[in-house]
Amino acid sequence: MNEAKGTALITGASSGIGALYADRLARQGYDLILVARNADKLEHVADAVRAATGRKIETLPADLAAPSELRLVEARLTNDRSITMLVNNAGIGSTARALDADVDTMSAMVSLNVEALMRLTYAVVPAFVARGRGTIVNIASIVAVAPEVLNGVYGGTKAFVLALSQNLRREMEGTGVKIQVVLPGATATDFWDIAGTPVEHLPGDIVMRADHLVDAALTGLERGEFATIPSLHNESRWDVFDAARQAMAGELSTNTPATRYLAA
Ligand code: NAP
Repeated sequence: MNEAKGTALITGASSGIGALYADRLARQGYDLILVARNADKLEHVADAVRAATGRKIETLPADLAAPSELRLVEARLTNDRSITMLVNNAGIGSTARALDADVDTMSAMVSLNVEALMRLTYAVVPAFVARGRGTIVNIASIVAVAPEVLNGVYGGTKAFVLALSQNLRREMEGTGVKIQVVLPGATATDFWDIAGTPVEHLPGDIVMRADHLVDAALTGLERGEFATIPSLHNESRWDVFDAARQAMAGELSTNTPATRYLAA
């Protein structure tokens, strides 16, 4: 076991953002457990990262939308004391409008983006708290705060990831457990083919390279950020948005309706 950094378990590590997290975290000295459905692609990523870094890399093929396979990954997170980081990255999206979307595809998206992420988080949190150490990186999306942009169910799943992270950040204060939520904008990965709009159809000036996205997200983690939005150049936009939300939070529950709702 690598005592210094420990082991990072990365979901959705067979391609795109997750495969880049695998490379970068191994270079930082983490051993890895890589999770996704496609065992061959996972092995390919593991071989490349092992060759480049010499770290211990294990593959754990699992369909996280299948309850029995999800439970195996949960058990690993609960019981493997070497695990110090969980990167909740596996996710699928959609660009379909509500009138065109297939509801079973929407349900599958909720299972992976919401249910699996929640269960994996709940599996690891008690272990991290007991050890007074651990990092959870949740990959959300800018659609968490801009749900009008793509499919509404996709936006809703990512708003869930943001809200769960906001709550956990609060609940984990003083425990030694760090929470980061990453909100990528459009990033050049296979995501877009699966979502229904090839990335080549997007204007080039809104699409970030996946390696740039992951390097920026890891810089955000090093900076101790909670919410990292690599594309957002004007950092104060988030601060103003979050301050407005928190200011309103104190006024959202009262024992009388606001005067505009009182009968004349
Ligand atoms: P990607 O290249 O399509 O990667 C998705 C990963 O999730 C793959 O490794 C895939 O592997 C895995 N996966 C899909 N279904 C799974 C399942 N049922 N069980 C286990 N693993 C599963 O796309 P990406 O862009 O890197 O996406 C990573 C995350 O970034 C997602 O959460 C996505 O919502 C988020 N994001 C992406 C963008 C973007 O523009 N690309 C923007 C904002 C947020 P297998 O197929 O082998 O299972």
